[in-house]
Amino acid sequence: MITADFHTHSSFSSDSTEPLLEMAGAAAEKGLKTICLTEHFDPDYPGGEFLLDTAAYRAELMRVREALSGRVEVLFGVELGIMDYLAPKLAEYAGEWDFDFIIGSSHLVDGKDPYYPEYFESLGSRNGILRYFESILANVRAFDGYDVYGHLDYVVRYSPERSYEPLDYREMIDEILKAIIARGKGIEVNTAGVGKIGYPHPNAFILHRYKELGGELITVGSDAHDRTRVAADFDRAQAALEAAGFDYYNVFRGRKAEFVKFQTN
Ligand SMILES: [Zn+2]
Ligand SMILES: [Zn+2]
Repeated sequence: MITADFHTHSSFSSDSTEPLLEMAGAAAEKGLKTICLTEHFDPDYPGGEFLLDTAAYRAELMRVREALSGRVEVLFGVELGIMDYLAPKLAEYAGEWDFDFIIGSSHLVDGKDPYYPEYFESLGSRNGILRYFESILANVRAFDGYDVYGHLDYVVRYSPERSYEPLDYREMIDEILKAIIARGKGIEVNTAGVGKIGYPHPNAFILHRYKELGGELITVGSDAHDRTRVAADFDRAQAALEAAGFDYYNVFRGRKAEFVKFQTN
């Protein structure tokens, strides 16, 4: 059993309306020991969406941590939207706050959000996916101020087929994983994929390759934006990890990783 959700959003993220207290309360009700909030911070997102009032977020998180003390552990995290040229800005931001955990994610490719149909309409399926992976490679070579890279094949959920053959991108995927591992960073299993593409991000091939290449750090997150989705499909995450040869997952406190074995209860 996995008892820590390390990818969640509350109303401090501009695409969620759920109060932070409700997110943490849901984690307690679902029997989690730990929930890490990872609000969006995407500088340069078009229109200024996905900025974060970090001071207000931290103050509320500390209040909720206190209120739920003894019921569930509430950790202070962030999901940074990475683009390679933002590296200095993101490093400065991350250094200003005492985060427990930082996810680095690709939400924009060449300034465009693949969520919008124009992205795949202009690039086509194969190039749209390839360009996404290329941008991740540039990002992980430019910036290492994160703990795990988020939802590595997230772009697929917006592709016309909503599926892909990872072997077609094998070299690119290997380069990304090697760059992440060489810098002492990890990846996540993100169960929001289950409802969108039928399995958690990333695809089993990527998870196996990560293990084969010596990858060790791995967190599990629901990417919940409301209380009902906290820890959703965690059985699928555990199955995917076990199939790839992992018998543990990681939790982070103060940016330090701890290894937690799957519990058999
Ligand atoms: Zn994300
Ligand atoms: Zn997220």
